[in-house]
Amino acid sequence: MRCPECDATENKVVDTRTSRGGRAVRRRRECLVCDSRFTTYEYIEERPIQILKRDGSTQEFDRKKLLNSIRVACAKRPVSASAMESMIEAIEDALSRQAGVEIESGKVGEMVMDALRPLDRVAYVRYASVYRNFQDAGEFQEFVAELDHRQRQEVQALNQVELTLPSS
Ligand SMILES: [Zn+2]
Repeated sequence: MRCPECDATENKVVDTRTSRGGRAVRRRRECLVCDSRFTTYEYIEERPIQILKRDGSTQEFDRKKLLNSIRVACAKRPVSASAMESMIEAIEDALSRQAGVEIESGKVGEMVMDALRPLDRVAYVRYASVYRNFQDAGEFQEFVAELDHRQRQEVQALNQVELTLPSS
């Protein structure tokens, strides 16, 4: 690393600390030639996560879009914003561990459903119905049948407004 003042390459690290929530290392350096101090950062290389869509095209993973879809499924449900945020973080972490390969969009949908299922059944069924990841319409009906009367109304109320049911 060259000194920005004198261009010399010899320097010593005088301070090291992590920053940005442990995702970066910040180093304070001192030039051995002119004594000026400068800062360098070391980051984990961000590799974009590629999603393989059903039509065969690929798209970069869009965190915002995924969060929005989860928000729609969780509308008026007792799922906190921070629960949704940590759900996204866990999914993103799992996906980036597989970076370099294309991940099928259906796989991402499954991860969301796995995370929603224990959190809120209504949100889970809503999500699954929008993303048509139930194997068939019969399976969807089975899940709806498992819900109690009030939950069923909540699923159906939202479906009529914003969602579409899987076609059989
Ligand atoms: Zn220097």
